[in-house]
Amino acid sequence: MPGMAELTGDSLSASLVRAAFLAQTRWKALHTRTARAYLQYHALAASLELFKAGSVVPWVSYLFPTEILTSHGLTPMIPEVGSATLTGSDLREAVENAAARMSLARDVCSYHRTALAAVENGMLPAPTMCLGTTPLCLGKECLLEMLATRYGVPFREIRVPLPPDEGEAPPAVVAEVAEQIRELHEDIGRWTGRRPDLRRAVLLSNRAAKAWGDLMAERLAGRLELNGRKTFAIVFLGQLLWGTEAGAKDFERLLTERGRSDLVPPAFDGRRPKRLLWLHTVPHHDHAFFELMEKQGAYVVFEEMGQMHQELIDPDDPWPGLARRLTDHTLWGTSARRARLNIALAKKLRADGAIHFNHWGCRHGLGSLPVVRAAFIEAGIPFLAIDGDALARGGPNQEKALQQLESFLELL
Ligand code: SF4
Repeated sequence: MPGMAELTGDSLSASLVRAAFLAQTRWKALHTRTARAYLQYHALAASLELFKAGSVVPWVSYLFPTEILTSHGLTPMIPEVGSATLTGSDLREAVENAAARMSLARDVCSYHRTALAAVENGMLPAPTMCLGTTPLCLGKECLLEMLATRYGVPFREIRVPLPPDEGEAPPAVVAEVAEQIRELHEDIGRWTGRRPDLRRAVLLSNRAAKAWGDLMAERLAGRLELNGRKTFAIVFLGQLLWGTEAGAKDFERLLTERGRSDLVPPAFDGRRPKRLLWLHTVPHHDHAFFELMEKQGAYVVFEEMGQMHQELIDPDDPWPGLARRLTDHTLWGTSARRARLNIALAKKLRADGAIHFNHWGCRHGLGSLPVVRAAFIEAGIPFLAIDGDALARGGPNQEKALQQLESFLELL
């Protein structure tokens, strides 16, 4: 992979390097014809455009309704996706060193610490606007607000009340969130001077959501088994492409065997594998956990984070549907709600156990851990929480976490 500095500049040589790198990623997509490879290619192509001079760069939170950006022909810059991409590139050392030099508490989520270091050192494009949502965590709202102040650009936040522990968010709450999204959509048009086409964005988003929703329903019904470690990347990258034609086509590729051929579970020579539910984010660059699982005859059958965008939006009245995706998101709400939903999920999947990845610095994930753990114990479903950092490779905690995982898998 070329250096990100070569990819991100605005010179002729940067354009050539960019074109060559894109061509390479495109070749991989054409060669494998899998949804995952195409998503990587299209997400990269869209993101590289953000580095060009004069681009509108909306920094947004992970769950932001990106259809209101694609409606205006805009690509989101999502700090979590940017950080995971950079730390997987040959700029890893540079961005890690830059993050270490910052006067920032070491217990800030590394997705945010890395994104901040990257933008301050020209490795990610500076924001034109910062747009947040209160789900999932306060940390990214602080990051977005701080960036907006530093770069003198607008900061807006869609405020979403917590859903009830049981049942759906009340219609009045959905209507209030819907109105905030509608107003923000208008503001984006005013700030950029672009004409929106939300209907088109919603129809394209629906095509992707229908494909993803059908696939998730098949997995939940036990008619289709996929490798949850690998499907994680689909929604993670897909966040950049909801509402685009490329995104719709890429998600639809998942409906063919060829299109999902790189998502199949590992082979276990006729042995029945242990099927695990994975909770929270994944270690993006550290494969040791998954290699150990495979060695011990286990794999991730389903990932908590994959549960999104499974409902369709009414193109004639998109606001309540876009709002509902936030108000009732499975990871939003109290710890009790998260625990209840995950127990139901584990039972539906007949999972042999669940693993919670304790991403360093994540108050949201770690804060709900005691309640989630107690619920799994009460339900009699084996549960393990392992410490780590989603962006790390190895590191001081890895050996202990691997030992814990090995003992857990032996017990299963
Ligand atoms: S890992 Fe936690 S703190 Fe970090 S972005 Fe995700 S929810 Fe926020």
